Amino acid sequence: MHTTCPRCGALLDRTPRSLVGRALFRKVLRCPKCGYRQREWRVPFESTLTFVLSRYSRCIQCGSYKVRRLNGRDQIDRVSLHPLSMLLALTMAPFYHCNPCRLQYHEWRPAHPSARTESKS
Ligand SMILES: [Zn+2]
Ligand SMILES: [Zn+2]
Repeated sequence: MHTTCPRCGALLDRTPRSLVGRALFRKVLRCPKCGYRQREWRVPFESTLTFVLSRYSRCIQCGSYKVRRLNGRDQIDRVSLHPLSMLLALTMAPFYHCNPCRLQYHEWRPAHPSARTESKS
């Protein structure tokens, strides 16, 4: 399992990470030839951004608006281990459930109007 450099095609080396780096990145690769760096975020960065910037609740994993608020935890479906969701859990935020990925996460914002009219609860 080697990754090649997208710039020059050389094999990338794994670089040792600092303590902060270990918390943020799954791995950091570096090209020994041209110095290109490839970082693999531990938390998917783009979906985190769409989650944070949204007015309405979106799935923390896939960004879908098809979420609904739960009255309590669903015992069958998974609960997100995303740091933001865990942080919100500490503030006693209610559970939300994503329909496409059957994932539960914590959230304070309301569900998107379109998602609310769809659910019959
Ligand atoms: Zn390179
Ligand atoms: Zn989802």
